[in-house]
Amino acid sequence: MPLSRRDLLRSGAALGALAALPRVAAAAPRPATPVVLATWDNRAAATAAWDVLRAGGYALDAAEAAARIPEADPEDTSVGLGGRPDRDGRVTLDACVMDERHRCGAVAAVEDVLHPVTLARRVMENTPHVMLVGEGARALAEAEGLEMGDLLTPASEAAWREWRETAEYAPGINTERRDRPSGHADDHDTIGVLTLDAAGRLCGACTTSGLAYKMRGRVGDSPIIGGGLFVDGGVGGAVATGHGEEVIRVAGASAVVEAMRHGRTAQDAAASLVERVARVTPADPAMIQVGVLALGPDGSVGAFGLQPGFVYVVARPGSDPAPDAEGTVTNRQPIDGGVLFTVEAPSVL
Ligand code: ASP
Repeated sequence: MPLSRRDLLRSGAALGALAALPRVAAAAPRPATPVVLATWDNRAAATAAWDVLRAGGYALDAAEAAARIPEADPEDTSVGLGGRPDRDGRVTLDACVMDERHRCGAVAAVEDVLHPVTLARRVMENTPHVMLVGEGARALAEAEGLEMGDLLTPASEAAWREWRETAEYAPGINTERRDRPSGHADDHDTIGVLTLDAAGRLCGACTTSGLAYKMRGRVGDSPIIGGGLFVDGGVGGAVATGHGEEVIRVAGASAVVEAMRHGRTAQDAAASLVERVARVTPADPAMIQVGVLALGPDGSVGAFGLQPGFVYVVARPGSDPAPDAEGTVTNRQPIDGGVLFTVEAPSVL
C-alpha cells in the first residue's frame, strides 16, 4: 500500500532527506557604522533611535524607540494616539517589527493600544505566532500590561465629524482626497524605520493608523512582513509608506530586499520597486503615492517616491546623508556624535 504523505513525513527516510538539505547559515553581522533611516520628516523619532545606537544599543530597541515617538504624539494624525480613525470613527492600528535573524511580529486592526509597535514585539518574543489581529491582539496587550486607552483625541474626532459631512468614500483609489494626489506629509506619515547598530545588526519597525477614514477592517501594508517591512540582516532591509494596497500587490519590502540579494544597490532596488508600482497599479499613478526606503548592512541608503514630496530622515556620523542615494537635502542638523538630514527622495513623476 502506498505511504500517505503523513506516513512518509514520519518515516526515517523523510527525516534523513531533511537532514541532508543544506542549511543556509545566516551571515554573521559585521561591525558597522550606525545608521537610522525613517520615512517622512520624523526627526524626533530618528533622534530617539540614534540615542539608542549612540549608546551602543541594539538596533531593534532603536527601531522600537523611534516608532514609539509618533505613536504617543497626539499631533501626529497618522500614527497611534490622535491617528485619524476609520470611517466609523474608530482608531485602528497596524504595526510590525523584524530583527536581523528573520524573527518578526505584527499586529493589525488593533484598538486602544498606545504602543502597537511594542505589542508587535511582544507577539514576536512572547508568542509562537507572527501576527495577531483585532480583539486577540488587544487581549495580548492587556495580558502584557501595556498602556491602553482611547486613542481618538477631540481634535481627531472633530476632523472625522467634519469629513463625514462632506466626504464621499472612494475605495477605488483608497483615498478620500480627489482634489490632489494624496500621499503628502499631512495625509501619511506612517513611520517605517530601519536601524543598523555598531555590531552590524539590521532591524526595522513600522507603525501606522493606516489611511484616514478607511473602511472598517481595512489593513494596509504596514503590518505585513514583506509588504511594509522586510529585513534580511545579511542582505538589507526595506520599508514602505503611502498607499498600502499598492505596496502589498508587489510584495514591496520583500521585493526590494530580494533585488539587493541579487546585487542591486539599495538605491537601485528602491527605485525599481516604485517604478514597478507605477507600471502595475490599476489606479492612476498620478493619484497615489508610494515611498520606499532601503538600507544595506554596509550602511548604504536607498530612497525613492512615486511622486515628488516623499521625504525621509537619515541619522549617521559624517557629513554625507546617503553616499549612494540621490535626493535633495532640505534640512541638516547636528545630533550627538552625528548629523540628522531630511532629504526629499527622487521620484518617478
Ligand atoms: N502605508 C500605510 C497604509 O496603507 C499608510 C501610510 O503610509 O501612511 O496603511
